[in-house]
Amino acid sequence: MRMLRVSLAALMAAGIGLAAPAYAEDEYRVVDDPLTLDIHFHFRDRLVYNNDWPVEKRAAELTGVQLNNVASLATTNSQEAFNLMIVSGDLPDIVAGNRLKDSFNQYGLEGAFVPLNDLIEEHAPNIKAFFDERPQLRSAISAADGNMYFIPYVPDGKYGRAYFIRYDWLDKLGLDVPQNVDEVYEVLTAFRTQDPNGNGKQDEVPYFARQWEELIRLVTLWDARSSGSDTYHDFYVEDDQIRHGYVEESYREGIKNLAQWYAEGLIDAEIFTRGPRSREHLLSNNLGGMTHDWFASTSSYNVSLADTVEGLSFRAFAPPASVEGRRLAEHRRIPVRPDGWAITIANENPVETIKYFDFWFTEMGSRLSNFGVEGVHYDIIDGVPIYKPEILDGSAPVNAQMWEIGAQIPRGFPQDYGYEIQWTNEIALEGIDLYEQGDYLTDIFLGVAFSEDEQRVYDKRWSSIMTYMLEMQQAWILGSRDVEADWDDYLGQLDRMGFNEVVEVMQAAYDRQYQN
Ligand code: CA
Repeated sequence: MRMLRVSLAALMAAGIGLAAPAYAEDEYRVVDDPLTLDIHFHFRDRLVYNNDWPVEKRAAELTGVQLNNVASLATTNSQEAFNLMIVSGDLPDIVAGNRLKDSFNQYGLEGAFVPLNDLIEEHAPNIKAFFDERPQLRSAISAADGNMYFIPYVPDGKYGRAYFIRYDWLDKLGLDVPQNVDEVYEVLTAFRTQDPNGNGKQDEVPYFARQWEELIRLVTLWDARSSGSDTYHDFYVEDDQIRHGYVEESYREGIKNLAQWYAEGLIDAEIFTRGPRSREHLLSNNLGGMTHDWFASTSSYNVSLADTVEGLSFRAFAPPASVEGRRLAEHRRIPVRPDGWAITIANENPVETIKYFDFWFTEMGSRLSNFGVEGVHYDIIDGVPIYKPEILDGSAPVNAQMWEIGAQIPRGFPQDYGYEIQWTNEIALEGIDLYEQGDYLTDIFLGVAFSEDEQRVYDKRWSSIMTYMLEMQQAWILGSRDVEADWDDYLGQLDRMGFNEVVEVMQAAYDRQYQN
């Protein structure tokens, strides 16, 4: 077969156009004789790799490389499973999982994982081309020594969370969609006081959120920042300077106002405790007025609750202008996940393994990892992969169905937003279009990889600083403390806790990583 492929390639090069699918499949072959590689793939705290997944089997057919899972579900904590595997010293050929970037980089520097830069350069043309086009992403996942120690899962699509409001309530009260922070205040006050659900009780919950951090997000309406990445409370970058929103005066102003909104009943009184089902509960009981949450899942309530809540129209609206007139969609999807896979030093086939990794960056491999198996889970229609009706109309969400077959899992591959758009409803798509037209997104902070010394400073300082900042934040919002009275002491305390030292090591790591 190997010879045939070469001669076919020669024929094609000579201008003889042969299209022979049986041979074309051979182009993905990594090894002539089947090769099995052990993989430790424990992810999302509840799943391990499955040797029988249709996606795995198809990949093995195409590449000749089969993966054999060695991770166990004895623990339901993926990080713990990783740690136990490392400590055991019994390394498999490949390690994969989600949220492992820091571990890959740390143990890569210590010699447990193979540096991939040269392997990619020589044997992985598709991965190389992908990162050549996206140097920022390469920087973002590289370790402090400049090496890549893992191939990441690369999400697609830009938009994540948006502002949603009850358009039917606005209509009922004769109000327009709020365009700025003052109008948001007026609308929430009207929701609170004018009984838009019409039951004669003042039971409306004007602003609510599944994650209480989405209340803190509202400080952006006073020109502050709540995070620079898709992780809450993260640093942000402005003009290549690392900053943190929670020490800035705009934040003090934002918190002061949110405390007032909370006191006036415009914010869910249980926002810190109600938890992940609050959206479901407050929408299905016709109580919630406004939130900040994911486009697709939030829009879906218009469909699922159509018979429960008469006239429900819960749709996205543009980020309201801040005090200074800024309209900011602070949240967006991260362009590269801290997930993926790495080659250990115990692996005796690193070249074959990087070639196998490269397969997932070919069009064939990417489709397999995004959509499943052609003819089984999707068909190519007009050149595009389209899910079979039984997938789109299945009882489980499409993403959950994909996980069951080994697609859309956190292996190293480029996600295709085409996978998601097929089951995103019209209301969500309209909302995304609104955000696209307005260009409200900002750049995202992709994180830094510390040297050992920097890591020590961060580990020693940051977690207690964050705890303190969040304790104060919550006390201010709930009104048990006063942000203006506390502010100078708060900054002084952060200084004593080493806030500036952390910013310094962040900045040093950032400069090294992104400035060359
Ligand atoms: Ca009411």
